[in-house]
Amino acid sequence: MSAVDRRARDLPLDAHLHTDLSPDSDVPIDSYAAQAVDRGIAELAITDHVDFDPAAPAFAHTTFAQRERVVREAAERWADQGVAIRFGVEITWDSRWAGEIRDHLARHSYDFIVGSVHVYEGSPYAAEHVAGWVAGKTLAEIVSPYFEEVEAAAQSGLFDALGHLDFVKRYLVPHVTIANLAAAPELYEPILRALVDTGTALEINTSGLRQAAGETYPSAAIAARYRAMGGRAVTVGSDAHRAGSFAWALEDGYAAAAAAGFETLAFRRGAAPVAVGIPAGLPNDVAVGSL
Ligand SMILES: [Zn+2]
Ligand SMILES: [Zn+2]
Repeated sequence: MSAVDRRARDLPLDAHLHTDLSPDSDVPIDSYAAQAVDRGIAELAITDHVDFDPAAPAFAHTTFAQRERVVREAAERWADQGVAIRFGVEITWDSRWAGEIRDHLARHSYDFIVGSVHVYEGSPYAAEHVAGWVAGKTLAEIVSPYFEEVEAAAQSGLFDALGHLDFVKRYLVPHVTIANLAAAPELYEPILRALVDTGTALEINTSGLRQAAGETYPSAAIAARYRAMGGRAVTVGSDAHRAGSFAWALEDGYAAAAAAGFETLAFRRGAAPVAVGIPAGLPNDVAVGSL
């Protein structure tokens, strides 16, 4: 953790958070709620991991009923203190399990659904494979397995938002640099087109700012390109897995959305899609710095 505290203040929404109901987080839900009250973050989406590959970490880690009870009870405890807590989920998209994912979402109601592609054991991007994977390949070949899955996730139309769409940067750096990717925005276009066509929101995920990538997933420039291609729905989340990462660099995500031309974030509270206003006066130099 960086010594500089970049946890945001006075923003309306953090739309991507993990609690100890996720296998890779140790944060009790009340820790986020208390920080939200202290820091003026008005609304939280709790988006714990749900995986469908039996070999993946969040497969059968919790039950729907357990997650719903913990989040709904916390929402009741904290409602009077000025923080709204929503019951979301982060589904790991994996084309091999598309039928199971579709079936799960048909049977269960969430306030807000993020769909994301992750890098697990056996992936060409896993630490022990990535150098060998990158060697001798073009950038298009390198990113292709990840980006094709992300495109399929967007095309599924199952999700409110597509989480951290170039999260693979976390694993590719330093073998592939941020500058390499920034120079090839065309590689992103099939994904962005699928988001536009299905009305799926683009998530600007600020966890990249505390990881090796050093920029949001995706960059402010890709958010702007999505907007230019007709994208109309954007969301922002810190993707915290630790208490100290709550709302981390969330202003950068908001500033990237604003710089791309968005005035609101696309969110859903169960049956009701809502537009959450992006506050004026964000320091837009933070986002532009990563262009
Ligand atoms: Zn994720
Ligand atoms: Zn996440």
